[in-house]
Amino acid sequence: MNLYIDFGGTNFRYCLDDGDLLTLKSDETELIPFLESQINMHNSIKKIFISFAGQVKNGKILSAPNIKIQNFNLGQYFYDKYSVEVFLENDLNCAAVYEYSKYKDADVLALFYIGTGFGSAFVIDGKILRGKDNIAGEIGHIPFRKKDLQCGCGRDDCLELCVSGKALKGTFEHADEAAKKEFLEGLAFAFHTVLNLFNPDLFILGGGVVRNNPFILDFLKEEYNNSSFKAIRSELKISISDIDNASIEGLKILSRG
Ligand SMILES: [Zn+2]
Repeated sequence: MNLYIDFGGTNFRYCLDDGDLLTLKSDETELIPFLESQINMHNSIKKIFISFAGQVKNGKILSAPNIKIQNFNLGQYFYDKYSVEVFLENDLNCAAVYEYSKYKDADVLALFYIGTGFGSAFVIDGKILRGKDNIAGEIGHIPFRKKDLQCGCGRDDCLELCVSGKALKGTFEHADEAAKKEFLEGLAFAFHTVLNLFNPDLFILGGGVVRNNPFILDFLKEEYNNSSFKAIRSELKISISDIDNASIEGLKILSRG
C-alpha cells in the first residue's frame, strides 16, 4: 500500500492508495510522528510519497520556513527503521507533472502557483527542470524590489514579497491600491522573464490567489499580446489548473514511474 502526502504551507493532505483525501493543518502536524503512526496503523504501507512545499533533494528536506526537520534524511530513517521507502518531491514539480499528463505534446510547460507564496515549475521535453540542487524554478525569490520585510529565504527584495497572498495580506480585492499595483507589476515581470528565458507553449496558473482572482488569466493574456517578439512567437496556451490537488495527482503519476 502507498501513502501519499501533500505537505503544503497551510494544509497537510494525505490518502492511502486511491482512498479519500484527508486534511490536517500543516502547522499542527509533525511529519515524522505522523508517518510513524500511519505505518503502525497500516502495516501494509510499503512506500510513502510526499509532495512538499519547500526544497527537497535525495530524500532530505533542505529548507522550509516552518518545519523543524531540515537536512534530516527521511528516506534513510524510514528505510532503516521500518523498511518503508520514502520519496520526496517539490510540490510544484508534482503539480507540473500532473498538468503535463494532460498536454503531452507541450514542448515547454511553465507553471505559476500563487498562494501563500509564489512558485513556478517547468517541464521541458517531458522532464522536470531541476537544476543542480533541485531548486530550479524558485521564481518567488528573484530580486525585484526592496521591502521592509524579510523573506523566508533571508533576502528583503524577493518577488514573493510583492506577488503572493502574504503580500496582499488577505484578498486581492481588499488589498490597498499600492499593493495591488505592485502585485501586478511583479507578476508581469515574472511572466515576461519566463517567456524570454523558456519560450513556453503552455502556461498553467494555479494556487488560491489565482483561483479567487480569475482576472489574472486575462491580465497575463494581455501581457502576452504585448510581449517582445510577439510576431514570431507561436500561440501560447494559458489556462488555470482545473483541479486544486494537482500536487497529489502528480505525485501519484510519479509513483507509477
Ligand atoms: Zn525570498
